[in-house]
Amino acid sequence: MIAMNNVEWLAPYAAHDEHSRGRQFHESLPTFRSEFQRDRDRIVHSTAFRRLVYKTQVFVNQEGDLYRTRLTHSLEVAQIARTIARALHINETLTEAICLAHDLGHTPFGHAGQDALNDCMREYGGFEHNLQSLRIVDHLEERYAEFNGLNLTFETREGILKHCSQKNARQLGELGERFLRREQASLEAQVANLADEIAYNNHDLDDGLRAGLITLDDAQETTAFRNQYTAVMQAHPTLSGRRLVHEIVRRLINQVVTDVVETSRHAIEKVAPVDIQAIRQHERSLVTFSDEASHQHLELKRFLRERVYRHFRVLRMTNKAQQVVKSLFTAFMQSPELMPPEHQQAAIRLNHELPEVGRARAVADYIAGMTDRYAVLEYERIFDPAKRS
Ligand code: MG
Repeated sequence: MIAMNNVEWLAPYAAHDEHSRGRQFHESLPTFRSEFQRDRDRIVHSTAFRRLVYKTQVFVNQEGDLYRTRLTHSLEVAQIARTIARALHINETLTEAICLAHDLGHTPFGHAGQDALNDCMREYGGFEHNLQSLRIVDHLEERYAEFNGLNLTFETREGILKHCSQKNARQLGELGERFLRREQASLEAQVANLADEIAYNNHDLDDGLRAGLITLDDAQETTAFRNQYTAVMQAHPTLSGRRLVHEIVRRLINQVVTDVVETSRHAIEKVAPVDIQAIRQHERSLVTFSDEASHQHLELKRFLRERVYRHFRVLRMTNKAQQVVKSLFTAFMQSPELMPPEHQQAAIRLNHELPEVGRARAVADYIAGMTDRYAVLEYERIFDPAKRS
């Protein structure tokens, strides 16, 4: 019932199930679900999705139980994006699917892990979490009898591949074409992208406060936080502690979501796209912040970079994380036989296709798939003489 209402309710420039560019391997139509519902459900059932619960972004799990993980981040992104998608009359289910899949390719230990693995892979084509998310849904998941990967629709895969170098785009077939032609992705993908930015800006601020890396006074150096802080204190002068922070963050998110809906709605009305192709061919993204919100968003981002991501406690942690990733990579490259059998076999197979580079890719796939705690455990098993394996 809901799905049918959704269909009637969709704008002509939204992604419509019946006009999907389809899946790589032919499958019959789902009985009770839409194509994008099937994509979303496959993502939720995937192994990579379940691993997100033990992968962190900025704060490692050992620091406390209440910080965001990649899983809670993905859910928050989806929740923000669904609100925007629904308000813009575009496909909420596709938007949700893209959001839930967008971080599947992340390494353990957040950005530190990704940078370390990218360094290790420099001579072998590099490592990029965005491409890795696609690699997971296209090749690495082993759940279906008839194909590798999840066999998702073009639209979901297009949304997952947020950015891509020209060199990589040339190897990606129809999915890479838009980067070569400099076209846009669907509005659903554009919403997912912006929701990601909104979610992590606000929750890294929240987590930074919780961890005591920054204080309420520090946060007021940013315009957006200062404005909301003043408004909350006017309305609730005695509010303090975590409840005060929650109230401010809640308002921050609400304000920026409202801004994106209004600004994007206006931009779409002005261009009056007739279909999704018109969205793709438009010279720029139509899902955007207003100038003022964009300014505040960038200010907050800068603040987080200087005060949270470069805080010595975070750097101390990321330094350790990089050491774990680099040590594991070197060990497995030298001795692939130290990896579990299925990864050894992948190394042999990929190395056969492309000597050295293939082996490196198999090692990167293995490391990227690790959760934070599995990576630490594997490090101890390999390098700590006192650890039993
Ligand atoms: Mg993200």
